Amino acid sequence: MNELRHFIHEKEFDRRIKWLIKLRWLAALGLFVVITGTEFILKIDIHIFQLYFGNAVLVIYNLIFFYYYKYLDKKRNSPKWLNKANFLANIQSSLDLTLLTFLMHYSGGIENPFIFFFIFHMVIASILLTNKAAYLQATYTTIIFGIVIGGESLGFLPHHHFSGFSTGNSCDLNFAFFLGRYIAFFSTLYITVYMSTTIINVLREREIDLKEANEQLEEKDRVKSQYVMRVTHDLKSSLTAIQTCLKVVLVGIAGEISEKSRDMVSRAEQRSLSLYQFVEDLLDLSIIRAAKEIEKKKINMPQTLQKVVGQLKPQANKSGLELIVDTHDGASEINGNQKIIESMLINLIINSIKYTPVGGKIIIRTGATRGSHLLLVSISDTGIGIPEKDLPHIFEDFYRAENVEQLEKDGSGLGLSMVKQIVEVHGGTIDVKSEVGKGSVFMLTFPLYS
Ligand code: ADP
Repeated sequence: MNELRHFIHEKEFDRRIKWLIKLRWLAALGLFVVITGTEFILKIDIHIFQLYFGNAVLVIYNLIFFYYYKYLDKKRNSPKWLNKANFLANIQSSLDLTLLTFLMHYSGGIENPFIFFFIFHMVIASILLTNKAAYLQATYTTIIFGIVIGGESLGFLPHHHFSGFSTGNSCDLNFAFFLGRYIAFFSTLYITVYMSTTIINVLREREIDLKEANEQLEEKDRVKSQYVMRVTHDLKSSLTAIQTCLKVVLVGIAGEISEKSRDMVSRAEQRSLSLYQFVEDLLDLSIIRAAKEIEKKKINMPQTLQKVVGQLKPQANKSGLELIVDTHDGASEINGNQKIIESMLINLIINSIKYTPVGGKIIIRTGATRGSHLLLVSISDTGIGIPEKDLPHIFEDFYRAENVEQLEKDGSGLGLSMVKQIVEVHGGTIDVKSEVGKGSVFMLTFPLYS
């Protein structure tokens, strides 16, 4: 298992198995076209029944692999997943090689120009399987193809001469011809596996180095976030104390002050409030970034949305906005951290409130996408929109679009960084569509709870 993990990066492996299954559909189609074209267009007499049979077998076992892999996909979190997927990959490779040998036998054997297709299979095996398994596949091919070729040359298996694609007739094919070709055939297989695995090993090592470097960077980023977290925490406490003092002065508890002093203290209090909000955003963001793991459990998204919207409705109404939730029946639960998900939704909805002029509408929708095991949440508004040039940057730390100044001067530019971070720790995605003057839609997806 450990050896497997070292060799195979799970996500990459999953992608490659799916790619192989897709490739096999193409191969089945290509085979059908070649068989039909050779028999009916080129009018070359081939063993059409056996070849179509091979074609059908290819389609049937690919269907079985397709559905079995879909079933395995649902058990991705099981510790045995990688072993099972690896076993499946080995079986697929052996079956492909067996089928190719069968097809070759009925279409000229060693004479068939498509004999080079074995080389592709060796490359695929080297990419997909461990080195040992790739060599085993080469040995397996050498043995089964050797039996077929040997049988044909010694006469205990019929040799189906490929008349249309070779000169002379099958009587010209002597034992030396078979042997020479066979030696060239299996040595090519081993050389291909040797060369491909050498290149693949270098790439795999590099992939592992990159993964490690990435993990170290992530760890450093976490340490940096812990540092920011400590600093912002201290700043927040001091700012709270400053604000309390300023409020005491403003309400006159500390004694009468002149109108001019009141104006100055009031401005200081406003500034300290903005600074407090900024520090609070920075603190929330660094808490999320410093966390290695977050505690997750089943969350009902429509209920969470109703709760958050209930809290924010007074603020929306005060700003002259309509705030609507539209939820659909069906699967609606995700695996997440209730508190963090709520703060993410609050951030997005408050943005819509901040950046939508009086009379506007904010609609929040949620529902599961059909067949893809994802829950969709969208927050759309009829606000000022985001200029096209700012769109690629709005999830960056401290970034604010130019057009917000007129409506909302204060803002840290950290809210969306935090939202993105939260979405990502929940395995989700976030995207935005916006048009200046018309509004914005933030679209989020999360894997459904399973
Ligand atoms: P801020 O504190 O500035 O709101 P955010 O990180 O939450 O910071 O948002 C980054 C920027 O994205 C905002 O300054 C604004 O330009 C843009 N933005 C976010 N949400 C909206 C929205 N609903 N409508 C228009 N612009 C938005």
